[in-house]
Amino acid sequence: MVPVIDLGRCSECRGCIEIAPEVFRYNDQTGLMEVIDLPAYPADKVAEAIRFCPEDCIAWERVDGGGGD
Ligand code: SF4
Repeated sequence: MVPVIDLGRCSECRGCIEIAPEVFRYNDQTGLMEVIDLPAYPADKVAEAIRFCPEDCIAWERVDGGGGD
């Protein structure tokens, strides 16, 4: 599972960075929020960011490892 941001709704308030700077960052070049590529995400921190996000635009997304189940 990876966290994803619905950028159409994100207000770039950067609250998620305050909660989980190891997961979320702001890209100065694109002016958009990004999820940092990590081998594993800290579930507690991401859950807190999801709860906090004022636009309710962070969600977990299932990543298919290609195993097919
Ligand atoms: S907390 Fe939500 S609205 Fe704020 S920057 Fe993060 S994803 Fe965007």
